[in-house]
Amino acid sequence: MYNKIFDRKVDDIGLQTGIDRLTPEKIEKTVNEVFSGETGAKLKVYHDTCVRCGLCASACHYYVSHDNDPSYSPAGKVTQTISILLDKKGKVGPDFIYQCAQIAYTECNLCRRCVHYCPLGIDTGYMMSVVRRICHKLGVTPQYLQDTAHSHSATMNQMWVKDDEWTDSLLWQEEEARDEFPDMRIPLDKDGADVYYSVIGPEPKFRTHLIYQAGAILHEAGVNWTMPSMPGWDNSDMAMYSGDFEMMGRLKRIHFESAQKLHSKKIVMGECGHAFRSVYDQGNRWLGWKDYPVEVVHSIEFFAHLLKTGKIKMAEKFPGPVTIHDPCNVIRGRGLMNELRYVVSEICESYIEMQPNAEHNFCCAAGGGVINCGPPFKNVRMDGNRAKADQLRAAAEQGVKTVIAPCHNCHGGLEDIIEHYELGLDLKFLGDIIYANMVKTKAVEE
Ligand code: SF4
Ligand code: SF4
Ligand code: SF4
Repeated sequence: MYNKIFDRKVDDIGLQTGIDRLTPEKIEKTVNEVFSGETGAKLKVYHDTCVRCGLCASACHYYVSHDNDPSYSPAGKVTQTISILLDKKGKVGPDFIYQCAQIAYTECNLCRRCVHYCPLGIDTGYMMSVVRRICHKLGVTPQYLQDTAHSHSATMNQMWVKDDEWTDSLLWQEEEARDEFPDMRIPLDKDGADVYYSVIGPEPKFRTHLIYQAGAILHEAGVNWTMPSMPGWDNSDMAMYSGDFEMMGRLKRIHFESAQKLHSKKIVMGECGHAFRSVYDQGNRWLGWKDYPVEVVHSIEFFAHLLKTGKIKMAEKFPGPVTIHDPCNVIRGRGLMNELRYVVSEICESYIEMQPNAEHNFCCAAGGGVINCGPPFKNVRMDGNRAKADQLRAAAEQGVKTVIAPCHNCHGGLEDIIEHYELGLDLKFLGDIIYANMVKTKAVEE
């Protein structure tokens, strides 16, 4: 029943090159090092208490999207990977490691929806992270994902943006914005600012308008804010998903330290889900930090604060109905569903909920680094998110034209779904709508 992976084997040069270098001894040693040195009661309890009841199966969008094929169910993925590694005490061959890598990196988004449906609270996402960790230590990682993690380790940002290009991009956006807001600055390295604003690597590279928009909102709200000129500005973390936890920790440390050097009071992170998870859940824990050295909030919380306190007022509301895509990492992971709905109701005329929603929402199938595994896996990803396409189509049939998703990865995943399944929907960040429709008291008269 669970032997279908070879039917769907996808060629990836990163996986294959890593596999070609493996020996049975190396595999056995690495698997056992991870099991004995990095996992403990948690893995054992999750693995050994599963009663194969199957209740988690329909919670997983891969299972639903593949016509209830049990090999895509959470428990099925465990049976095909961790169970065998444990049973055989790491005595497995390279082809089996390829199978493990493909399942853990490309057929699980680590979205943790299944945890909510398991009567025993078993976290399959965690177990797939352990498989990724083993694969990383064996050097068996999808090429595109590894490239991104490598860029981050070499330059402290995932897009290989040089320090002068970073500051040039900020200056360029400041200049652009001054046509609209003559007094606007993007303050660099300001000491003791109330807000340190951090973004993900692709923003200065491909989505510079988001920096312009954030600057305009912060300026209009009269916030005392800054961005750093030094490395640490990129809050993203594909190393968390490749299994390179040492690098994940370094990246979180430099992010916090750059804010500490400037004596910033609070970090506000842009609209990204995985970056937020790397800060509140995984990177900080890996570093052994009980508390954050600097308070950190997601843009959803920050926008809610600006609207509640009247620092930002809307000139008009965005025409509805819109629908809301709940990013797993900020909603299921951090519980910001009410804040998100508050912001949407303040900035949009009306919204229609996708079904299911909030903490039960389906992942876009891009998360967990799956979209970052790149073109070799794109078709597989499209098959894996049919459940999301069905959710979106049902919303569209009720008159929804716009989907709001406060997460970069979700945007990437949803864009692909909308195009592939010809759903004809538009996608927006919260910041897109707030910037376009807020009262602009500090802008030039039109
Ligand atoms: S974490 Fe998400 S993608 Fe992975 S098995 Fe569970 S529901 Fe499926
Ligand atoms: S719901 Fe929990 S106990 Fe049941 S099969 Fe899934 S992981 Fe195992
Ligand atoms: S990409 Fe979005 S929906 Fe998918 S796991 Fe990440 S936060 Fe969740």
